Amino acid sequence: MPITAVVETNAYEAAMENFDLAADALELDNDVRSMIKYPERVLTVVLPVRMDNGRIHCFQGYRVQHSTSRGPAKGGIRYHPNVTLDEVKALATWMTWKCAVVNIPFGGGKGGVTCNPKEMSQVELERLTRRYASAILPLIGPAQDIPAPDVYTNSQVMAWIMDTYSMTKGFPIPGVVTGKPIALGGSLGRNEATGRGVFNTLESACEHLGIPIKGAKVVVQGFGNAGSIAAQLLDSNQAYVIAVSDSKGCIYNPDGLDIPKLMLYKDKTSSVVGFPASQTITPEQLLSLDCEILIPAALENAIHGDNAQSIHAKIIAEAANGPLTPEADRILEAKGVFIIPDILCNAGGVTVSYFEWVQDEQHLFWEAQDVYNRLERVMKTSFKDVLKIHLNRKVGMRTAANMLGISRVAEATKLRGLYP
Ligand code: NAD
Repeated sequence: MPITAVVETNAYEAAMENFDLAADALELDNDVRSMIKYPERVLTVVLPVRMDNGRIHCFQGYRVQHSTSRGPAKGGIRYHPNVTLDEVKALATWMTWKCAVVNIPFGGGKGGVTCNPKEMSQVELERLTRRYASAILPLIGPAQDIPAPDVYTNSQVMAWIMDTYSMTKGFPIPGVVTGKPIALGGSLGRNEATGRGVFNTLESACEHLGIPIKGAKVVVQGFGNAGSIAAQLLDSNQAYVIAVSDSKGCIYNPDGLDIPKLMLYKDKTSSVVGFPASQTITPEQLLSLDCEILIPAALENAIHGDNAQSIHAKIIAEAANGPLTPEADRILEAKGVFIIPDILCNAGGVTVSYFEWVQDEQHLFWEAQDVYNRLERVMKTSFKDVLKIHLNRKVGMRTAANMLGISRVAEATKLRGLYP
């Protein structure tokens, strides 16, 4: 059951609206604009899977390649009951600009299956994953399109995809997916990469705004991979994480939650709800708490026209993809909230995915500290590049990030010219 009031905002329409804003600011000519705006390839698949009760259930799945102008398509696979083609198209579009903002040689892609993994056994999930991997097989490959984990998919799901793909080719091909287990060619540091990247951009934003991380109050919506790691790093840098939530509820402690203990508690009980030394609050109360930093790290459209006005945070770090609707964006910008947009803020995941792919291709693996140092360099350089456009062109941080990403994709597209 969703715990935040989710308004009916179409994420793809929001992605197109944000594209137009940035393309206008860039004065992009109409030919290039129409060449780079829409997804290059869209595949819809039906996935019959034998369930544990002996019946066959047909799931709907998608793989979208938004752009391959700068390199192979890159993007995660989402398993969720609300997955739609429009959502996958929006997520693929954001991946294109994201890879370009952090200047890694990938285009954008995304996949999804409309399913509820929480109600499926491991065996059913494996059958679904292998059938989905077979169905999208013509599109994927280390030089074509490289999936990764997203909401409710993980390293085990990537291992099954890697195995299915490799079995059809007859030899192991680890570079077909990233976010794999270390034992199969995964990268050290990939699991915490998104949260770490969020933290790196927050360090830059706090430095720019003169807000010390030490002593800052932090609220995190969505205590999953991205949200919990960001919370952990902020906590270990002496910020106070005063409230967090997950799909089951929200908890609050004005003196700061004990994050290491909360992570163990969530591992054990699979929710943050009921954590000792915390009180339960509503999703609306969570968003309106007085804090320096708010990290939406759950799903799209969590912050919209009806709840944006109540937000008191000074900085919003978008760990999630598309957590603000365009209307929320306008309200928060008018309130002077500093937004670290998703395509910059959560790009740590795809950056270390790129490192993983490079290591797989070279069969040469790096130490964790090497991964962290390279990641920090990429995140802080990208933050500086976006901030420069924000300040020089007097546009919001989201438009600035989109302008950077779109201009790089436009340049590559113009240089490649028109085929045939
Ligand atoms: P995850 O599945 O590990 O965590 C998602 C968390 O959100 C879970 O704790 C879930 O309980 C919670 N949640 C779901 N619905 C909620 C709701 N209505 N209110 C509050 N919490 C809710 O997923 P993740 O990998 O951490 O991804 C979270 C977001 O970050 C997504 O938008 C994803 O696209 C984005 N992201 C993730 C990565 C990555 O590498 N993991 C990279 C880039 C972007």
